[in-house]
Amino acid sequence: MKAFEAVKLYFNRAADQLELTDNMRTLLLTPKRELRVQIPIERDNGELQTLIGFRVQHDNARGPMKGGLRFHPEVNLDEVRSLASLMTWKTALVNIPYGGAKGGIAVDVSTLSSRELERITRKFVDEIHDVIGPDTDIPAPDMGTNADVMAWIMNQYNKYHGFNPGVVTGKPVDHYGIPGRAEATGRGVGIVALKTLSRLGCRPQDTRVAIQGFGNVGSHAASFLQSAQCQIVAISDVSGGYHCETGIDIPHALRYAREHQGSLAGYEPADQISNEELLELDVEMLVPAALGGVITVENAPKIRAQLIIEAANSPVWPHADKLLFEQGATIVPDVLANAGGVTVSYFEWVQNRQYYQWNLDRVRQELDRVLSSAFEEVWDLSRERDVSLRTAAFMQAISRVGRATVLAGIA
Ligand code: NAD
Repeated sequence: MKAFEAVKLYFNRAADQLELTDNMRTLLLTPKRELRVQIPIERDNGELQTLIGFRVQHDNARGPMKGGLRFHPEVNLDEVRSLASLMTWKTALVNIPYGGAKGGIAVDVSTLSSRELERITRKFVDEIHDVIGPDTDIPAPDMGTNADVMAWIMNQYNKYHGFNPGVVTGKPVDHYGIPGRAEATGRGVGIVALKTLSRLGCRPQDTRVAIQGFGNVGSHAASFLQSAQCQIVAISDVSGGYHCETGIDIPHALRYAREHQGSLAGYEPADQISNEELLELDVEMLVPAALGGVITVENAPKIRAQLIIEAANSPVWPHADKLLFEQGATIVPDVLANAGGVTVSYFEWVQNRQYYQWNLDRVRQELDRVLSSAFEEVWDLSRERDVSLRTAAFMQAISRVGRATVLAGIA
């Protein structure tokens, strides 16, 4: 199944509940604009290379479009389109005044020098600066991009349009960024996970957790959940999984990864397992925080966790989602579970516009408020309508975007 098809399937399950007409479905699903641009660059060795970049602007009924920029060899239009659409539903669900967008360049950043990365970024901005801006479309980091890339985007954009720190978020904290942005997605995953445990009548200290992916999102989620007394029994990265029934000391694992170029390879206090085995462990909570599409109809029947928190985007394929729901599992969907990042990006944009900096306590407090309120709404709607949390989340988001679309006047 292609990525956009999967999002459409989830959308249609919710649209059926809302009894949305076919014409309205087509309007809400069709991206507003899709841009494909050529990015010619000169490599450090003088060689010419031509890359392809994308920006999909899905919907702006509720405000400027917002979404990350992914630099990865597998970036393609279908994937960018699906992620742009997810951003529309995510921003609507947490009720921040944005629409959805996403962008990317098909490139392997591990083969680039820092100067090459900067040249590619600036060339990309040269191609898209007319269609982005603090009131139109605001990029942010995603896989393969970081705070430095965001600083280059701001600087290149400013050359065309004057000083505009709000054109991009996820900037370095000391250069118009915001404290707490790096931890925001993982922290949000933790906040939502604890709320779900509480609604299910489970105690964190009785909860064994397996987390796939120990990057930005996975590691911050692990730290947050461990400090809330959950027992993290397995973690993983691209080198494989690491399992310890008595619990993994997360600060120790973080130190280990830092000292080994970010990798957990050879982490001895735990037994090595595969990433596939990690998904099937006997735990109460599973947190896929790496890739999309890792839970499929093939492995879904073997998944023992009764609670799955989607920290990554689209880790559960729709047919597996249906199967797990029927097996009685609770899945907290990506549009809710990983919305902490875009929420704190929104705070960054707000403070950029006010030329004022919030402190970390205020950022955390506001993040908790926004996510808690979205969680309560989704939970109550799912109980009221007897639907999954995902369908409830999409119903809430589609209702908001649909209403804004109608209020703005369609014709
Ligand atoms: P990251 O690059 O910091 O970390 C990714 C982790 O996944 C690393 O530990 C990496 O080793 C691991 N990994 C890579 N390939 C793997 C494989 N084949 N099997 C197992 N593990 C593998 O990325 P991140 O920012 O933590 O993002 C993780 C996921 O969360 C992505 O799906 C991303 O789209 C989503 N997400 C991130 C944010 C954010 O703010 N960073 C926000 C929303 C959603």
